[in-house]
Amino acid sequence: MAIEYLYPQFEVLRNPDRCIACRVCERQCANEVHHFDTDLQKMVSDESKCVNCHRCVSLCPTRALKITKTNHQFRENANWTGETIQEVYRQANSGGTLLSSMGNPKDFPIYWDKILINASQVTNPSIDPLREPMEIRTFLGKKPTTIERDENGKIIPNLSPRLELDIPVMFSAMSYGSISYNAHESLARASKAMGTYYNTGEGGLHEDFYKWGGNTIVQVASGRFGVEKDYLDAGAAIEIKIGQGAKPGIGGHLPGAKVAADISRTRMIPEGTDAISPAPHHDIYSIEDLRQLVYSLKEATAYKKPVIVKISAVHNVAAIASGIARSGADIIAIDGFRGGTGAAPTRIRDNVGIPIELALAAVDQRLRDEGIRDNVSIVIGGSIRNSADIVKAIALGADAVYIATAALLSLGCHLCRTCQNGKCNWGIATQRPELVKRLNPDIGSERLINLLTAWGHEIREMMGGMGINSIEALRGNRLMLRGIGLNEKELEILGIKHAGE
Ligand code: SF4
Ligand code: SF4
Repeated sequence: MAIEYLYPQFEVLRNPDRCIACRVCERQCANEVHHFDTDLQKMVSDESKCVNCHRCVSLCPTRALKITKTNHQFRENANWTGETIQEVYRQANSGGTLLSSMGNPKDFPIYWDKILINASQVTNPSIDPLREPMEIRTFLGKKPTTIERDENGKIIPNLSPRLELDIPVMFSAMSYGSISYNAHESLARASKAMGTYYNTGEGGLHEDFYKWGGNTIVQVASGRFGVEKDYLDAGAAIEIKIGQGAKPGIGGHLPGAKVAADISRTRMIPEGTDAISPAPHHDIYSIEDLRQLVYSLKEATAYKKPVIVKISAVHNVAAIASGIARSGADIIAIDGFRGGTGAAPTRIRDNVGIPIELALAAVDQRLRDEGIRDNVSIVIGGSIRNSADIVKAIALGADAVYIATAALLSLGCHLCRTCQNGKCNWGIATQRPELVKRLNPDIGSERLINLLTAWGHEIREMMGGMGINSIEALRGNRLMLRGIGLNEKELEILGIKHAGE
């Protein structure tokens, strides 16, 4: 028998005085951690299979379960940590690339937490959002540069196609395939209720979801999965995905285990095959090529829909964004290196890309310096955790934000980071029917609506505190921000002063 080098990461602690052997945990765990041992007449665990998703802990009726990180240790070594050693064992076992999901978990600086928001005192008094109007509606797309009037002096509407958002938050691209039908339905229904948008990701649009097209952004990625005329017509906007924060520079990968019948129909690929989208678009090697795709999509949809170009936050993001702003795109979406994913090579997720806060500030400044900021709106994503992050992002120059991990957390995700296995016990990142039905879209959409409603209240409160009553007046208003514990270079890139200045 081969030697087992890998030691379980977690320990399942079952309180014998509380456990009533109801076997709920056994039925709930798709990883098959728990089972009832008929010889011993008690529940036992196989800890090697535990991913710490907390499904059993949450549903145990007697609170008999606790999952802890194992305190088993390799001999201390600052260079070769236990995690690093286990990764080498894993690759020596499999010969394959390490796969992970969700966002970069490494201890890189989180700049949102090093930025503080201003508040009015005495002069420029604060505004009470409960008693005075507070506008958080925002429009995404090109801003008009001139006002034209007809012979009667009436303004001729010459607005480019745009998206209207009642709250400056949208649900980021998550494909049907990487997440379940019920997760998609929850996002679609919440988007409609909240006057915002969700995004198909690169998985096409299930026929049942065409009815939510007015709140859908349809994505065109390098694999072109599910892309056809009806699909483009169905959405309110079209997003060309060049890059994704969790895996800059590489394509997408949906493991074949998740390509069930419905997914294969929607994506137009054979059932059970890995859906691998190439790293580049094979027709894009320059901004001119990108421009051709932007205008092809506009032409195909009668110039009625804004086109978004989504890129990862990388070293020269400002120069790239400058090119995109000249390509005819209406919106640039930038995804930071903490952005989530259903599956990515671990090394890429953890080592490639840059923080979204620095990327955003650099892009906004570059477009302003070049006088083309109003050519495009900027949407950012990849680590927005709460309403304060949103206010900071908008003050740094974003028009709106994308959220994904926070949305999945609302649906019950416990960030076990094993979406790539397709066994999500919370019914989110899975296509197994018995798991999918655990997520009730009535409850899921309500929880998403609650989250956005709560954030909307908080955004209004923070704006009121600053004496600002419209999101437009907050956009790029870096005077409302101060840095804490940042060095000169970081402050310079962020374009903000240090606290106390
Ligand atoms: S769910 Fe809780 S009470 Fe039921 S068998 Fe599992 S540990 Fe025991
Ligand atoms: S979606 Fe499911 S599998 Fe993915 S991290 Fe969340 S709980 Fe884990």
